[in-house]
Amino acid sequence: MAKITFLGAAGCVTGSKYLVEADGKRLLVDCGLFQGNKELRLRNWERLPEEPATFDWVVLTHAHLDHTGYLPRLVKDGFRAPIFANAATQELCSILLPDSARLQQEDAEYAAEKGFSKHNPPLPLYTEAEVAPVLERLREIPRGGSFTISPQFSVRSHDAGHILGSSSLELSITENGKSTVVLFSGDLGRYDQPILNDPAPPPRADYLLCESTYGDRDHPSYSPYDALADVITRVSKRGGVLVIPAFAVGRTQTLMYVLRQLEDTQRIPHLPVYVDSPMAISVTELYQRHREDHDVEFTREEAGGDPLNAHKVHLARSAEESKQISNVNTPCIIISASGMATGGRVLFHLARRLPDPRNAVLLAGFQAEGTRGRALLEGAKTLRIHGEDVPVRAEVIELRQFSAHAGRSELLRWLAGLPAPPRKTFLTHGEPTAASALQNAIRSQFGWDVTLPAYRQSYNLTV
Ligand SMILES: [Zn+2]
Repeated sequence: MAKITFLGAAGCVTGSKYLVEADGKRLLVDCGLFQGNKELRLRNWERLPEEPATFDWVVLTHAHLDHTGYLPRLVKDGFRAPIFANAATQELCSILLPDSARLQQEDAEYAAEKGFSKHNPPLPLYTEAEVAPVLERLREIPRGGSFTISPQFSVRSHDAGHILGSSSLELSITENGKSTVVLFSGDLGRYDQPILNDPAPPPRADYLLCESTYGDRDHPSYSPYDALADVITRVSKRGGVLVIPAFAVGRTQTLMYVLRQLEDTQRIPHLPVYVDSPMAISVTELYQRHREDHDVEFTREEAGGDPLNAHKVHLARSAEESKQISNVNTPCIIISASGMATGGRVLFHLARRLPDPRNAVLLAGFQAEGTRGRALLEGAKTLRIHGEDVPVRAEVIELRQFSAHAGRSELLRWLAGLPAPPRKTFLTHGEPTAASALQNAIRSQFGWDVTLPAYRQSYNLTV
């Protein structure tokens, strides 16, 4: 009997890991880090409930760390088999995973120096050296079309429109000559967004796993161009600095694209834009190179110039260049990781800029429970950074228009495209309120059987 076990992204938005078993073979779909509150992060340190050495393959929907960031630990703990991903996802992994290791090492070293870690000495979850064996295991699958993993499993990718290379995976499971289809939505992007294609219509599926990050709300319909232009004008007029915590993949490119458009249409001044991320430039190059993901409009604009860079861009690769940004006292924009302010260089910028009311922090992505980003959104008066309480006097702005995730109606629009109701739908990758709101909407709108799986729960899949 085929079976699926939810080893992450069940009742929360991170740690995506789904173990599919058929005919004695085990395939792990995604291998993400848990991020957010401490209870979740501690799961990264527990041994997986299933032995990594017993997994036969991993297949990835996309490169974000909450879908791939646990791979170094999986390999460290005994996984010795191929990891399937398309070319863009592989290239992004080769940038993101070493960076994830560096961030963890830096945070551990900083904690050791300041003596505020719970571990003694503070340990990183994995090191940069432990990433190389992961990259060696990557095997390419096509961006579209079908790929046979084994007699039991074959996958077909469908564009998910979320980040470069992001896919929904249609997994066909064959056991005793009979087949069943499980569709993994992966993270779904938005319709009519710059740069990337729209999410492709889903294929028929017997079982469906659908993300539910924004299952309880829609993104504001107010134009992201107007919203960003307003913020930049307001902050620069009062002589402030705008800090944007953003992951290097996806949101940074979208923000840069919109900044460039606003500059070119004279809606904002040409301010210095500091991209404080050693990897943003490489990721932007990948976005330019993987044309198979580009929508028609972006393809046209690419031909005429450099739509992914603002006019006055400064890229800070080294720690020294990063520190120099602290000396800037005139209006500017700083884009730096991590996107939920859980770690990375943005913490130094927040510590430096939050106490000044002329400045602003723009939160453009999902802010998970327990993160500094969420605390800022909820009006925290101080923020704990590197063991100190930093007063929050800067303006905090949320622009959910820049989300890389489908909002509630976009999720329902994608779901409505299924040619027939799935036998069972599992809602994953959502906090409980978001997932149950989407569950109610699907029941009332489509009348489907919808389940919210729990962490470590298994279900039989009838083949
Ligand atoms: Zn994602």
